[in-house]
Amino acid sequence: KQNQQGQKKDVKVVMLGDKAVGKSSLASRFCFDKFQSEYEITIGGVYNSVDMAVKGQQLKIHLWDTAGEEKFKSLLSLYYRDANAAIIVYDITQIETFNSIQGWLTELDDKIQKDGMVLALVGNKCDCLESDRKVPKQKASEFAKTHGMIFYETSAKTGEGVKPMFTQLIEQYAQDK
Ligand code: GDP
Repeated sequence: KQNQQGQKKDVKVVMLGDKAVGKSSLASRFCFDKFQSEYEITIGGVYNSVDMAVKGQQLKIHLWDTAGEEKFKSLLSLYYRDANAAIIVYDITQIETFNSIQGWLTELDDKIQKDGMVLALVGNKCDCLESDRKVPKQKASEFAKTHGMIFYETSAKTGEGVKPMFTQLIEQYAQDK
């Protein structure tokens, strides 16, 4: 989609995943390069936009952060129906959040079949102690490969992996165009 100036292309990205995996924190790290340690519950959804230049193209990234709570699930399709990319996040220290990934993919299935979508699997909180890790990196990376997803481990806290993940996601989108 071209905007009125005919220059910046709009790219809509949605963040999905169970609650407290760090979706809002990743969005805030990417958009404002900051991290807040207090826990804030996202009601419904929060939106930010960031300009990015990828492979000579000027893009406007519209980042939608969704709520993981079951009660908002009925609203989810409103977020992703016109999305170009989805980032599905789990917490590497909470195995249940990784086990939920398949459900998130199923949720998106119709949309993926119909319009295609660039997908990223993100294991967040990689700053945590290795002894607290519950999801082996190799296991997650194989899952991502099987499902044609980009894979990164990130830390919204330190910033590790955040920019590379967004950059690869957007590059893949730009390349698929
Ligand atoms: P959301 O519900 O998925 O949006 O999760 P939040 O972004 O609100 O984060 C939930 C909790 O995890 C908060 O207390 C954050 O400070 C914390 N958190 C988020 N990202 C990280 C991270 O990369 N490392 C660590 N150690 N904590 C994080």
